[in-house]
Parts: sequence; C-alpha cells; structure tokens
Amino acid sequence: MTDGAVASRVPIYLDHHATTPCDPRVVEAMRGYWSAEFGNPASASHAFGWRAEAAVENAREEIARALGAEDPREIVFTSGATESDNLALQGVVRARGAIGSHVVTAATEHPAVLDTARALAKQGAQLTVLPVDAGGRVSPGDVARAITRETALVSVMAANGEIGALAPLTEIAGVCGERGVLFHSDAAQAVGKIALNVEALGVDLLSVSSHKLYGPKGIGALYVRRRRRSGERIALAPILYGGGQERGMRSGTLATPLIVGFARALTIAVAEQAAESARLGRLRERLVAQLRELAGGVLVNGAESPRLAGNLNVAFEGVRADAVIARLHDVALSTGSACSSAKPEPSHVLAALGLAPERIAASLRIGLGRFTTEAEIDFAARRIAAEVRTFRTSKNPAAPA
Ligand SMILES: *Cc1c(COP(=O)(O)O)cnc(C)c1O
Repeated sequence: MTDGAVASRVPIYLDHHATTPCDPRVVEAMRGYWSAEFGNPASASHAFGWRAEAAVENAREEIARALGAEDPREIVFTSGATESDNLALQGVVRARGAIGSHVVTAATEHPAVLDTARALAKQGAQLTVLPVDAGGRVSPGDVARAITRETALVSVMAANGEIGALAPLTEIAGVCGERGVLFHSDAAQAVGKIALNVEALGVDLLSVSSHKLYGPKGIGALYVRRRRRSGERIALAPILYGGGQERGMRSGTLATPLIVGFARALTIAVAEQAAESARLGRLRERLVAQLRELAGGVLVNGAESPRLAGNLNVAFEGVRADAVIARLHDVALSTGSACSSAKPEPSHVLAALGLAPERIAASLRIGLGRFTTEAEIDFAARRIAAEVRTFRTSKNPAAPA
C-alpha cells in the first residue's frame, strides 16, 4: 500500500480497544433481519415470531459453540459487557442478599465491574480489591488468601483494555473451584483475541461484548454455567424485570438483527483468531521498533506479562500524551479507556501498576485491529514520532522539566 492509499484512510484508526468497526460479513448477515424478518422472537402465535425465534436460537447455539459452552441455554443475551458485568455481580450478590456477601475483584478492572462492586458495598456487601503486579496481573495466591466463608463471587477480567495484560484465568478458576466460590470474568477484550474456552477454563460466568469483536454495538452476552462441580445451579437475581425473556434473567424484546450479527462476528473472530493474533503481534513489534528508532525514550507499559497481540501501551519520556494526541489529527488513538474518558482522571490501570504520575501522563494506548495494514503502521509510527519530537524540542511551558 502506498502513502496515497493510507491517505484515503486517514485518520488511521488505532483505538480498537474502545470499539471495532462492524465486519462487512457481519453487516451482510444482519441485512435480512431489519425489515423483512422483523418478528418478535417471543411471538409464539405466528410465522414472523417463529422465524425470528429460530434466528435467535441458531445464533445462541453458534455463540455457545464458539465459547466452548456445553449448552446454548448458558448464553443470556444482554446489551453488552457493561450489562453482563452488572448482571453477574448484582445478580449473584442480590440473590444471596448483600449483607454477608463478599466480593473479590482487582484494581485494574473495567468500571462496569469496579463501580458495580462499590455500589454493592454501599448496600452492605464486603469488598476486596486486589492489587496487581508490574505486568498488571492478579496473583492466584492473593485470590486464595482473599476468599472467606462469606465470599460470593470472584471477578477478574480476562484481558485488560488498557495494557492488554492476560490474567492467569485457569489458575484463578482452579482456586475458586476448590473453594466452591463463583468465578466471573469480564472477557470483553479477550473473546476472539485469545484462545478461550469456558469449559477448559472452568469459569462460571463470563461477559462478552459484540462491538469489541467486529460485531454491532448494543449487544453482548453473559455466559452462565449450568453444571457446576457442586451440582448447585447459579442463582442470579435479574436487574431488569418485565416479560421474563432469557428464562427470567433478562427481560426485554430480543434484538434479533444484533444477535444474528453478534453470532456471525464471534464465529469469524474465533475461526481467524490464531492467524490474526500472529499478524497483529508482528505489526505491533514493527510499530515498537519504529517508535524506538524515530522517537526514542520509549517505555512499554505492562511489558512484564503476556499481552493481547494488538495492544501497545507506551510512555514517551518527557512528553505529555494528551498534548501529542491533540495534535495527531491523522491517527486516532487515546491515552486510556474510552469508558472513563468522560472523567479526565489519570488511568486507574496504569496507577495500579505502580507507575509514577509523569510516566502515566506520558502514556498512549495504541490498539491495532483486523483492518490495520503495515502501511498504516508505518504512517502512524512516523506521525506519532514526529509529534513526540516536536513536543520534546518545543519550548512548551506545560512540558515537564
Ligand atoms: C468495552 C468493555 C466493557 C463494556 O462493554 P460494552 O459492551 O461497551 O458495555 C466492559 N469491560 C471491558 C473489559 C471492556 O473492554
């Protein structure tokens, strides 16, 4: 690809942790469900309803298969990972009663988990927020030590959306299984990006978001295990009451087109995951090498742990990342999570790694994705490095001394 071809794609999108474009194959799969097949899947008395229901149930089976679930009934459709996280945490704790329920989670979780856990604590639940190591990983030993007789749920994300850190999920699931404690994982950044199988992992509840894996926005799922080692069913109190859809766990008319698109997107992401991760890993290494060469003073955040192939969180010494981003009109990236960009606070994830405030302020998050090309990486590296150098050499009064 020539620079001319890159120019037609400007601004270059390198913020794939915030969201991803819908894959054209997904758009195609949804096409018939907007107006021709518009039925309500819960309409049991006519063909419009039956056909919509068949589409939803096919999608549910496809999603169960892609996640390695035993039974399609373990998939509960939600509006996205935020709702799935809320349903998992609120659902488990409220089913038991907040008083006397203990929740264990980690400092680097998404606000959909952390703020839900804090809200439950206000309602009387006990809360333990575990620290992470320099690579952003929770220690399974810390999880084991945190569990008490009151512990209702442990929630640890599969992959972090800022630094890409992959959690030791199998080990944490093992600890929870031994102690008979439910294990939830927010896998919004992991599903379709790493090999992940709910049965092999032994996770009890798992949150998925369609728009993070090249599907439509506004749809996701919570995986809820049916067969536990103890034989007990997971009791979940709903957060939405109404028509009793999703076996009472999530009322509301099912969004047939979004569900069909979500299933297609997930199937594609899982089928292509291994090759795509290898490709993204090579692009990421190419980008780091060029940034080191063209800008220098590059520190990779979270480099100590295994990471998502498409993630690069880097600090540029002596630079203020927000100032660099403000001038980078032709490359779309961010300093941290879009989820909390309404609140201009330093990243709670980078702070949890123990990084100094100056290093946090100097950090950029770069997210490579399915349609990112080598030419785009080369272009982005040149542009980022140019702005970093400009910042360092300018007499910017705001520059740290
Ligand atoms: C994006 C994201 C969410 C929120 O998902 P939505 O589907 O946008 O509600 C939750 N957790 C993680 C880790 C995410 O990356």
